[in-house]
Amino acid sequence: MVKETIQIFARLKPPSRKHQQGVCAEQLGTGEIYSIDEDEKLTPSLEIILPRDLADGFVNNKRESYRFKFQRIFDHDAKQEIIFENIAKPVAESVLAGYNSTIFAYGQTGSGKTFTITGGAERYSDRGIIPRTLSYIFEQLQKDSSKMYTTHISYLEIYNECGYDLLDPRHEASRLEDLPKVTILEDPDQNIHLKNLSLHQATTEEEALNLLFLGDTNRMIAETPMNQASTRSHCIFTVHLSSKEPGSATVRHSKLHLVDLAGSERVAKSGVRGQLLTEAKYINLSLHYLEQVIIALSERNRLHIPYRNSMMTSVLRDSLGGNCMTTMIATLSLEKRNIEESISTCRFAQRVALIKNEAVLNEEIDPRLVIICLQKEIQELKDELAIVTGEQRTEALTEEELLQLEKLMTSFLEDQDPESRLEVGADMRKIHHCFHHLKRLVNDKKTLGKSTGPSETKNQDCQEPLREEEYRKLQDILKQRDNEINILVNMLKKEKKKTQDAGLLSSMDRSEIRSSQGSPFPSGNPQEGQRTSSSLVPAQAQDFGASRYRSSLLHKKTGMRGEMSLGCQEAFEIFKRDHADSVTIDDNKQILKQRFSEAKALGESINEARRKIGHLKDAITQRHMQQVALGISENTAVPGVPDPQEEELRLQLEEEKKRYRTKFTRLKALKVEIEHLQLLMDRAKVKLQKDFEAWWAAEASSLQVHSPAANPLGPVKPFPQTSESQQDRSQLPSNRRDLTGRNTPPTPCPSPVGREQCSPSTRPEVSISERPTSSIPLTGDSQTDSDILAFIRARQSILQRKCKCTHLQLHEARASALLAST
Ligand code: ADP
Ligand code: MG
Repeated sequence: MVKETIQIFARLKPPSRKHQQGVCAEQLGTGEIYSIDEDEKLTPSLEIILPRDLADGFVNNKRESYRFKFQRIFDHDAKQEIIFENIAKPVAESVLAGYNSTIFAYGQTGSGKTFTITGGAERYSDRGIIPRTLSYIFEQLQKDSSKMYTTHISYLEIYNECGYDLLDPRHEASRLEDLPKVTILEDPDQNIHLKNLSLHQATTEEEALNLLFLGDTNRMIAETPMNQASTRSHCIFTVHLSSKEPGSATVRHSKLHLVDLAGSERVAKSGVRGQLLTEAKYINLSLHYLEQVIIALSERNRLHIPYRNSMMTSVLRDSLGGNCMTTMIATLSLEKRNIEESISTCRFAQRVALIKNEAVLNEEIDPRLVIICLQKEIQELKDELAIVTGEQRTEALTEEELLQLEKLMTSFLEDQDPESRLEVGADMRKIHHCFHHLKRLVNDKKTLGKSTGPSETKNQDCQEPLREEEYRKLQDILKQRDNEINILVNMLKKEKKKTQDAGLLSSMDRSEIRSSQGSPFPSGNPQEGQRTSSSLVPAQAQDFGASRYRSSLLHKKTGMRGEMSLGCQEAFEIFKRDHADSVTIDDNKQILKQRFSEAKALGESINEARRKIGHLKDAITQRHMQQVALGISENTAVPGVPDPQEEELRLQLEEEKKRYRTKFTRLKALKVEIEHLQLLMDRAKVKLQKDFEAWWAAEASSLQVHSPAANPLGPVKPFPQTSESQQDRSQLPSNRRDLTGRNTPPTPCPSPVGREQCSPSTRPEVSISERPTSSIPLTGDSQTDSDILAFIRARQSILQRKCKCTHLQLHEARASALLAST
């Protein structure tokens, strides 16, 4: 059992980009707001200093600085790798050792919880704790051949006190609200079970990563502007690990919860109303219950801990004051306007640090193996009983039983140990059978002894020296011939394989060229240099296929593009071009392209190395054969003395193998990176499409308002009348409205310069709403009219943003042509 308090770490977020680029960076400079004291080596502390203008109004006693102790404090420049190495790696180790573990991130919205737990959506180097931990765990599992491991993944989202399975296949067809809710069941031992939460087996890092991205994309798709679930829900990604030693009946289970909590900001500050207030109240309620549990746990002698008050505390019951090693990361966005929230986060962390957990190894006996053992024991007891009661067992021994006895007797007779025993159990039939068998053996030996007469032996004896020499010589020759035959057979096999490989390799090359997305990886065990790519590539290709299959499913779900009208498609093209994410997608595309060509080149040089290894091996075999042949004909081979040429070849072979292994390791890393980038891109594409869909629907609904005569664009999702905190709004681009109350595309100007250009003050106010509807000629056909109206709207907002370029002019020309033709 390991008794440990919950470990608390603080991670500071870099100042937001807006501030970094802002004019008065030093004013907002965080240096005056906080300082980290690392002198106290064991418990570093974070001092938050209240600026004078805030101190007066903030607290009555006019305290001006607060000091909080943490296990470690990571300043804003700490990279994701450092966070993994220092926080998550030790946790992953304890999960591998069989202990339940939890890492949870707590902090206000925008402080970096998701960035820390899952990672950034842009760069590979920004991947967070989950992908890095998965990578580490699978690497360790691969290294450890002493146990059999099974890994399962589950991904739960708790939103408004309801649980949803982010990996539920029905996500493809439903909205979040339509999915079956995950519910909590408690068994008589007060263990928590989650009904409707699916567990998915993951045998490789790639499979686990696919599940993570699938869950994240499902979460993003389910999120509507009305439910900004990502800031208002809790997400629990769980890795379930079981291990068993071969032959043992004991199974070890451990769970790793990686938790991204809802934003911890208070309702009062964000001042939300209506529906959002209900949500905010819920989050607050759920975090409030978390706080209550933590207070109860940190107080000594408290008998009742109110776990049952909320779903989240019920699910995390073991992580809080139970059988678990728990780590908390307090994420802080230490800017002036966030001071209040930051202090509250730190206070929460201080209370959490008082909680003691007791983690035990979760071992359980595998019932199937126990049944086998018990059956054996029952049989033995029956046998003993039969002897004791004198009961005769008359039925014949089965074939298996006889075979088993033969084996036992053979090993007994061959065993040189005089103490060894023949254990056949208490079955008289078996004992009798063994005696009969031994009797037969003794008799056989006797008859053999009689048949070899003394004269013969004598005769044999006198010829012995001669025969023995001859016999040895013959044996040597036989051995040599055997060797040669083996070598020749091997050579033949290799030749055959080479011809097969040549065929497969050329077809693989063709498929690589055909598809830039196809895998360029000749994978396989780096230890086995001689394995050919052909036997391994298809499995890799399947992996890629699987991830593409998933993403295509996701695309289908958002699948608006499939049914897009021409106008809608054009608008999408413009929208895509101006969307901030398209820069990321393009960047990632470039990186992906580079990585692909690097992987391809590496793949080729690995194939080359493999060919060289093959040649060297052939050369060694040939040389060996020559030596053997020479030895036979001239009797010159001196056994035990190595042939220098062969030695040289062997050295070269080792060198080549080393090179092969280095390249292979690099290729493996590249493969993980490429897959990650592909998943990031898939997700970005889905997001782009989703943003467009929302914007398109909003445009249509605003047109409907201004032009009731116009035909509606089908069902339209309303946009939220949000009044969220400023910060929220900056992160939820689809919620932005321009001065006329219309929605603008979520991120219309990728660069800050662009953003300035389209600021309301500089924008020429030529709004379509001001134009009389009758001035727009309509065709009467609902689809065409809605396209025209939506197109004009799209064009208008682009014009307003002054993003004039040839592309737009082209569209303008097309629009005029379209209008003229109607
Ligand atoms: P939260 O999940 O707490 O609401 P996010 O993780 O979404 O916050 O972070 C908000 C924004 O800040 C994101 O754009 C994220 O990429 C960025 N961010 C957060 N932490 C860091 C960090 N340590 N380094 C760089 N960017 C960060
Ligand atoms: Mg988040």
